[in-house]
Amino acid sequence: MADAMLIIDGQEIAAAGGTSVLDAALGAGIYIPHLCHHPDLKPAGVCRLCMVEIAGKGMTLSCLTPVEEGMVVRTESPEIAKVRRVAAELLVVNHRPDCLVCAKNNRCELQRVAAHVGIDSERLARLRRSEKTPPVDSSNPFFTYDPNQCVLCGICVRTCDEIVGLGALDFAYRGFNTMVTPFGNEPFVESCCESCGECVVRCPVGALLPKKYQQPTREANTICPYCGTGCGMILGVRDNRIVSVRGDAASPVSRGKLCVKGRFGLDFIHHPDRLTTPLIRDPAGGSRFPGFREASWDEALGLAAQSLTSIRDQYGPAAIMGISSSRGTNEESYLFQKFMRAVVGTNNVDNCARVCHSPSVTGLSAVFGSGAATNPLDDIEQTDVLFLIGCSPTEAHPVIGMRIQRARSQNGARLIVADPRKTRLAQSADSWLPVRPGANVALLNGLAHVILRDRLHDEDFIAGRTEHFEQFAEKVREYPPERAAAITGVPARDIEAAARLYARADRAMILYGLGVTEHTDGSFGVMACANLALLTGNVGRTGCGVNPLRGQNNVQGACDMGALPNVLPGYQSLEDPAVRAKFETAWGCKLPTNKGLKYTEAWHFARAKRVRAAYIVGHNPAQTDPYSQRVVEALQSLDFLVVNDIFLTKTARLAHVVLPAASFAEKEGTFANADRRVQRVRKVVDPPAGCKTDVDILCELSQRMGYTMPARTPCDLMDEIAAMVPLMAGMNYVRLDEQSLVWPCLDKTDRGSPLLYKERFPRGRATFQALDQTEPAEAADASYPLILTTGRRLQHYNCGSMSRCTPGLSVLCPDERLEIHPQDAANLHVDEGQMVEVASRRGRINVRAHLTDRCSPGVVFLSFHFEEVPTNELTGDQLDPLACTPEYKVSAVRVTPANR
Ligand code: SF4
Ligand code: SF4
Ligand code: SF4
Repeated sequence: MADAMLIIDGQEIAAAGGTSVLDAALGAGIYIPHLCHHPDLKPAGVCRLCMVEIAGKGMTLSCLTPVEEGMVVRTESPEIAKVRRVAAELLVVNHRPDCLVCAKNNRCELQRVAAHVGIDSERLARLRRSEKTPPVDSSNPFFTYDPNQCVLCGICVRTCDEIVGLGALDFAYRGFNTMVTPFGNEPFVESCCESCGECVVRCPVGALLPKKYQQPTREANTICPYCGTGCGMILGVRDNRIVSVRGDAASPVSRGKLCVKGRFGLDFIHHPDRLTTPLIRDPAGGSRFPGFREASWDEALGLAAQSLTSIRDQYGPAAIMGISSSRGTNEESYLFQKFMRAVVGTNNVDNCARVCHSPSVTGLSAVFGSGAATNPLDDIEQTDVLFLIGCSPTEAHPVIGMRIQRARSQNGARLIVADPRKTRLAQSADSWLPVRPGANVALLNGLAHVILRDRLHDEDFIAGRTEHFEQFAEKVREYPPERAAAITGVPARDIEAAARLYARADRAMILYGLGVTEHTDGSFGVMACANLALLTGNVGRTGCGVNPLRGQNNVQGACDMGALPNVLPGYQSLEDPAVRAKFETAWGCKLPTNKGLKYTEAWHFARAKRVRAAYIVGHNPAQTDPYSQRVVEALQSLDFLVVNDIFLTKTARLAHVVLPAASFAEKEGTFANADRRVQRVRKVVDPPAGCKTDVDILCELSQRMGYTMPARTPCDLMDEIAAMVPLMAGMNYVRLDEQSLVWPCLDKTDRGSPLLYKERFPRGRATFQALDQTEPAEAADASYPLILTTGRRLQHYNCGSMSRCTPGLSVLCPDERLEIHPQDAANLHVDEGQMVEVASRRGRINVRAHLTDRCSPGVVFLSFHFEEVPTNELTGDQLDPLACTPEYKVSAVRVTPANR
């Protein structure tokens, strides 16, 4: 819409077409009283405070009136004042008059309105209704709801509906008794509210208030340390403690939003269980850390350096394995892989992408020529159809989940969800495809078959930009919907409808997660997603593409930085002599020539005593890797294990030396999120006395092993990264302090490349892959008749070492529950909450059952956040042969009541 010039209170103002008169006035610094308006929400016109006079139109609500060319607006007149006063009195009359003790005092929109409008207190006293005081709801661990302070503006109701997409709140009762309540009039904690706090931060008065709030003395911007969404957050500090968290409205990823973990889940930073002194294994050790004694940094680093050196000298560098942290910064991962290559002398370096998204790298590289997300997350709101496969963003990437909901409610985007569970997004999707775990390739081939058969493919794109189409077309002809249905369990008519919905869209975007990658054919699943996008020309354009939803906060960065056994930083070839020479000159060392071990392979080598030592930073494979009993066995076989961590995790408890590290809030650096965006992480508070950053630990360890790291600060390390990694040559802290940058960012004038493959693919053309469905390593049988699939819970993260430090998150999700379909439970005589034994071919665990139709019959679900419910003693370690990623998503299990 064209811009408009209008006059407000005699002032000439330019406003974008479609802007409301209220927003135009507020944007020009002209205050019009309002309560129900919020810039993130559709206008509602409920409070009636924003009345103005428009020449030729008379009195009108400015929030509901779009600007027009030549419009003349008056925001103040005796008539307007009268109308507003009545509106304000009707709002104030139901509001408890205790401003002086209200935590929102001086930050309350109602106070501002009352002061502007001028409230008649005598009239108010007459109007005030009798002493009916509904109780305050304090059930939620993070915020309270006091209906006596509520002015019924509806912002919370609309926030939960329009932004979060949950619709957990509504108005209940009528007339004077009207109040906002969670759906079903339940207490917040028992309702479907997900405690994101988005309504709390928008409530204009003191009705919804955070329980813990202290005015910070200073604030700093940083990035959330949990999932790969990479939300921007502003941490408030008082006395070297974090006292407030708010979303960063300037973040291009999250635009001010946070989920429950980001907003409320940072108690781990100041938790008393933080490690603050190095530990050395000692069976006669102290009571605080059984099996360890506390040591000085000098002694612990000395022992680590001496042990690694002597094992390297005795058995060769390949006898040492290094695992970098996907939670640490880019600078730390870069330094770690450099330590392993230049100091230890091995390419045995990896990170936890190995157990999650390595198939994204192998799969996307095979098709597109490069292995990362093709489009920015912003495109979620620019697309016509979203196809989600093997992911549940509202649980694992909640702010992406909110953006998907917004794309649906604001832009009318259609939604296809392929997942064995009826996830929250699946419940409201246009099409839910309940694919059997492990049958993704057959489903995607079936969709491609229908698209080709119905001639919905993009012939020009295929002819101009791809190769090997004929082989692919021949293969998918073998997957008519009836066959795909027989393999996947998805009805043929639903496959047909979803194929048409995806292919007929002008712009369609695929988002996928670990439900695609964590299979023995995970790389094929990723390739099949990419095939579908090529087939329909949905690559290289805004609102299209194929995008992996990365799990941990910096798993993308750990890979980018070369914490991988087969490539150098920036995915540069180990085999290319020119690349090797560049690194050898810069690092002053001879690089090992052979590819290193993938860490899932290293466990076998450790049990065979061919790997003798390991260095693990910020990772807990003893709990989070599949078939964890064997991982523990491998770790116990090592002659020497050193672990950097912030807590004494199950893996750290197996170490010979534990080095206490700084958390994300205590160091400078950068994280790269799921869409390749490199964002600054800042030191907001000092680390606890006794902790060091991983950069300092690695520099000191290198020194003791005879190698001086020239770059010893995060800023200098980023300069070294830019010098060594062409994809990030344009990055430095001066630029990154101003704005995040998306790689490829090739020089200091390059603003980054959120959208890939606009004109060409790295190899020129993209390559279709002809793929067959292969069966998972395990199938259900008479002994193990159910399929266990695993995933995340909204309130917790990974091994739980961080999220479980926040008591409120444990109130919301106190323990692990086996999700099982009511029909399966009935067949097994299992009731809600009953303790059951879950057994696989590898182990057995006890856990309570939760009956839910979110699971398809025959499928059960567990997370592995809880150390006391060791889910990974059940899962198998069969690997995708291309990426060596294990099959977490399919384990045959038997469920029996535990007392049998
Ligand atoms: S906290 Fe979030 S989920 Fe709960 S009611 Fe408010 S907006 Fe909805
Ligand atoms: S709780 Fe707050 S946001 Fe919700 S209706 Fe009441 S005043 Fe408005
Ligand atoms: S969506 Fe992920 S990055 Fe964003 S606040 Fe939640 S956990 Fe943090």
